[in-house]
Amino acid sequence: MTRTPVEKNSVVEKAPVAEKTPVTLLGLGAMGTALARTWLAAGHALTVWNRTPARAAALAPEGARIAKDVAEAVVAASTLVVVCLLDDASVDEALDGADLVGKDLVNLTTSTPAQARARAEWARTRGARYLDGGIMAVPPMIGVPEAGGYVFYSGSRDVFEQHRQTLGVPARTTYVGENAGFAALHDVALLSAMYAMFAGVAHAFALIRKEDIDPASLAPLLADWLVAMAPTVHQTAEQLRSGDYTKGVVSGLAMQVAGTPTFVSTAEQQGVSPELLSPYFALMRRRLADGSGENGEEGLTGVIDLLVR
Ligand code: NDP
Repeated sequence: MTRTPVEKNSVVEKAPVAEKTPVTLLGLGAMGTALARTWLAAGHALTVWNRTPARAAALAPEGARIAKDVAEAVVAASTLVVVCLLDDASVDEALDGADLVGKDLVNLTTSTPAQARARAEWARTRGARYLDGGIMAVPPMIGVPEAGGYVFYSGSRDVFEQHRQTLGVPARTTYVGENAGFAALHDVALLSAMYAMFAGVAHAFALIRKEDIDPASLAPLLADWLVAMAPTVHQTAEQLRSGDYTKGVVSGLAMQVAGTPTFVSTAEQQGVSPELLSPYFALMRRRLADGSGENGEEGLTGVIDLLVR
């Protein structure tokens, strides 16, 4: 019988699975420890180092190899060194003097885009390839794919491709470009939007605080409304791409500005400070005024141009 290509492939699939990439992990805080446990559970050889040794020792019974210092941990790495420390300054302190020649440094420490770009250059001058990461998850979401957490990566595409599978063990991976600062930028963009949403939620609960309204009855209405409004970000993106801020607008800026006194008056009547809403309303009014009325047909996208200095 002639073998079909499918049968050939099935023979290949039965070949022994390649050994899993050994990982060196520096930093065993809440996040580092969660990351460590997923690699150990997935069968990766893991060498760990932490400034406070007790946190590293706690992982020994789970199979982690404990390095006495950073130098020993880095030497132990085949190539992959993952860093998850408090901030950029602690990365500087911990890696000072470490020999990184030939290593792939993956830095999951939260940093600014500028710090990430500087760290990429710093790594290059030390002979290492560099990938930066921004973690969009809290520790209980690590190793739990259904929780929806993921990590933004940017910097060396080769490092990302080579270690994609290993990096995907703790959480889903999303590569956002060769510019090492882009993971941090995406991270901060999403979290900034989150804080503005939290501000809106705080204002909404404040409005009902003195009334005979159960916050638990407002909560599902509020959550559903935010979810219903979330898809408007796609229209905003489309308007920014096309430069036509009137495209698909349902609620014009002029109408929305006319409505803002209602929000401010209601806040005052409820004894609530409008300080979270007022700056946004001021930008809406400015955008409307800037166009001498022409911007009335736009929605809210023009506000973005006022923010960009
Ligand atoms: P923790 O505060 O729990 O741990 C901080 C870690 O950094 C510890 O291992 C600590 O060591 C180490 N560290 C601090 N300063 C130094 C230093 N000067 N030299 C060497 N090591 C140092 O933080 P997390 O683990 O929660 O966070 C780690 C990174 O992950 C941060 O950048 C954080 O922003 C990011 N992140 C965290 C999230 C979270 O919800 N926890 C969510 C998304 C990102 P020691 O044990 O000795 O104190």
